[in-house]
Amino acid sequence: MNLQRVADKLGLSKERLEGLQETVVKKSSWPQPRLLRFEKTASGVEAGTAIFDNGEIVYGYPKIRRALMLAPALKKRFSDLVAVEEKMNGYNVRVASIDGDVVALTRGGFICPYSTEVARRLLPEEIFEDHPEIVLCGEMVGPENPYVPKDIYPTDSIDFYLFDISMKNNKNTQGVHKTHEFAREYGIKATAFFGEFRAESAYAPIVKIVKQLGRKGREGVVIKDPENKSTPIKYTSSESNCSDLEAAFRYYNDYALDFFVSRAVREGFQSVEWNESEEERKARALRIGESILLPLVDTVNKKRNGEQIVQHVQIRVRSLQTAREFEYHLRRSGMRAIFDQPEPEDDGYLVRITKLVMSTNDKTQALIEGEMW
Ligand code: ATP
Ligand code: MG
Repeated sequence: MNLQRVADKLGLSKERLEGLQETVVKKSSWPQPRLLRFEKTASGVEAGTAIFDNGEIVYGYPKIRRALMLAPALKKRFSDLVAVEEKMNGYNVRVASIDGDVVALTRGGFICPYSTEVARRLLPEEIFEDHPEIVLCGEMVGPENPYVPKDIYPTDSIDFYLFDISMKNNKNTQGVHKTHEFAREYGIKATAFFGEFRAESAYAPIVKIVKQLGRKGREGVVIKDPENKSTPIKYTSSESNCSDLEAAFRYYNDYALDFFVSRAVREGFQSVEWNESEEERKARALRIGESILLPLVDTVNKKRNGEQIVQHVQIRVRSLQTAREFEYHLRRSGMRAIFDQPEPEDDGYLVRITKLVMSTNDKTQALIEGEMW
């Protein structure tokens, strides 16, 4: 890799890039192709940015800020029209072709072997033949999503939904319209598009959409400038906040405190802004309360009955090698998991995975035995 050329493309001096290499820029030599990845945002380069051995750069997907009070946030951010898309709840991947091989990068800039196999299966090859420079940004969702398993989407396994397009060596994304046009052209799925609204009158229709999504257990919306002039914002349903809380309280000692607090705070702002009746507010309080208490009770009970606190997920792979590689990938990402023997199926294998949540497991055991918090 020519470090000077890469530094020029990133808009950094070579010395700065070398300096970062000891701290935020990490090498990843597996799986091929080898790459350098930005573990954190630094010098204006987004976290997750990957620089491949051949010098090509896939930029990290930008963070999306969250509105707590929707109406004023819309006014503050957008002047003209806003485009509203569904925010899907899975994990972010960027798919690109590097020296002719399609790879899927995680948020952190690692090549994920499982996501790569799924992307190669779901995305027509001609996309990358026609557009070798393209980077497809999308969400992997479904019950066989080993990071955020959800059975609220129309798939029994895992599916890819495009939400943005970018090009290698280029920070910009192409925006809502080009993305949806592209998805139509190649017959791939894209996140639902709910239409465009004038910013000053968008509040009511967006709340209606978010309520409808919430009833289906879906996450919420991303609100984008159709001309891509200002950065998008996100806004989510109470049901999705609560389902996050439920998962987090089940494994309460394995999550950062902010995860709990930020979700509880969202609920307060939404309840006020939506001007809820007493009855609606009570229902919200009950929903929040249940999503905190019930998983905790379940966890403590399980431990009292001598069970291990673990999380079960599963994946379907075409090749055994993908399963083995994914096992290694989880381990190097710092996750502890036990992989069952792959079960052969018609066109591949089912692999059941037990993720260990050691911290919650041990803490609960200790507390049950009378240890102090
Ligand atoms: P962030 O740092 O971006 O806030 P996060 O992991 O906290 O990341 P989220 O709260 O899920 O993520 O919000 C941003 C993510 O939402 C994006 O990175 C993307 O993976 C996902 N997403 C789902 N649907 C869309 C969509 N329609 N447009 C853009 N992003 C979407
Ligand atoms: Mg998400």
